Amino acid sequence: MSKKPAAESFVTEIASRSQDFSQWYLDVVRRAELADYSPVKGCMVIRPYGYAIWEQIQQALDSRIKATGHVNAYFPLFIPASLLAKEAEHVDGFAPQVAYVTHGGGEELEEKLVVRPTSEAIIGTMYAKWIQSWRDLPILINQWANVVRWEKVTRPFLRTTEFLWQEGHTAHETEAEAEGETLKILDLYADVCESVLAIPVVKGRKSESEKFAGALRTYSIEALMGDGRALQAGTSHNLGQNFAKAFDITFQGRDKTVEHVWGTSWGMTTRLVGAAIMVHGDESGLVLPPRIAPYQAVIVPIGRDDWRETVLPKAQELRQQLADAGIRVTLDERDERPGWKFSEWEMRGVPLRVEIGPKDIEKATVRVARRDTREKQDLAMDGIAERLRHMLDEVQQNLFERARQYREAHTQRVTDYDAFKSAMEGRPGFVIAAWCGSAECEAQIKADTQATIRNMPLGGPAPGGTCVRCDNPAAAEAWFAKAY
Ligand SMILES: [Zn+2]
Repeated sequence: MSKKPAAESFVTEIASRSQDFSQWYLDVVRRAELADYSPVKGCMVIRPYGYAIWEQIQQALDSRIKATGHVNAYFPLFIPASLLAKEAEHVDGFAPQVAYVTHGGGEELEEKLVVRPTSEAIIGTMYAKWIQSWRDLPILINQWANVVRWEKVTRPFLRTTEFLWQEGHTAHETEAEAEGETLKILDLYADVCESVLAIPVVKGRKSESEKFAGALRTYSIEALMGDGRALQAGTSHNLGQNFAKAFDITFQGRDKTVEHVWGTSWGMTTRLVGAAIMVHGDESGLVLPPRIAPYQAVIVPIGRDDWRETVLPKAQELRQQLADAGIRVTLDERDERPGWKFSEWEMRGVPLRVEIGPKDIEKATVRVARRDTREKQDLAMDGIAERLRHMLDEVQQNLFERARQYREAHTQRVTDYDAFKSAMEGRPGFVIAAWCGSAECEAQIKADTQATIRNMPLGGPAPGGTCVRCDNPAAAEAWFAKAY
């Protein structure tokens, strides 16, 4: 039998979150076996535990996407290079990140193929074939896929050359309908983040310089990570008629005139796994919200040498009982000390640990430890599944509340530029300020402070006063931050 490291060494193998957040993140990803580096630079291997988290997120998203009338389909990985070039802004935006296939079957290809960085071009080409009349609209299609964007600096889950995502692509009769769809998806994304990942987000519109290449308007949800940097957690684009014009997607309207469709596209990616790590994790490792945890509870049998005879049968019975109640549960039957198992499951972020030993069996109780608060309590075996389900809801709620309070404590409003610059020193979180709307001010603010406009919240207060950097009247209230 291989000798495992002692419990203490688990903790020392993870860098301190408060002192070196960046290393802590990489250590957690590696030690919790979420992902590993691959022989291809910039690509990652998502290991089973990390993939199981993604599957929970995926299911929550997929069911909401379908409940709002969308259907799934699948389009090819390869796109003829000439198709990507059809929408000028789009190709300019993606050109530096595109990977090409030049050879296949031992021969040089007549036309090189793009490995999709996103699928507007290929899907638009198909929509042009499928749409003739207003009766064919709307088209509401989503696809689950991988995409490739050649990245220079990568970080597991947050920025990798290949990543997994869903991309929705819709076509509508009117501009208003497309705008309604764009905002509906933004709400859906915010709901997934807040109610499933327990991450509070700010919904808003992107500035012109930060919008999707080829879109009319881009909306995003932005979250604050545990180191005070912001992360864009999802985007929804109103494409206007740009792609319809580039790909000739037309329909005969109700009044018999031929018009271009109005499009949207929207995506959420595996970076959400990274967001969950960075928002909820602590010095001991991962802390998973129950709704995305591969295991919501782990049962650890306690006992002397004969625990397999005395405790295990009862532990197996308990596992079955919890599984029957719909709790994702695992029983750690390995021949290791309970203390070692405790630290390992703590590091892997399992929301509830259920300890069961000979004394517990005598008293018909179990000892339950919460990962988020580390509180322990003895609970009667009778009705245990119901109690644990209730506790999982409490953990979920507490993690959201904790993240919300953190964000509130790291969000400030400033009015003059000196205050803005000093507020932006270090990693302060969000700084809210009035902005005139000019790209010049935006670029200068970025050059001076490294901060970017994350978004301009929807339904925020009407902007008053003047731009934080110049003296022109404010056009919007913007949320600035240093971002991933
Ligand atoms: Zn300005």
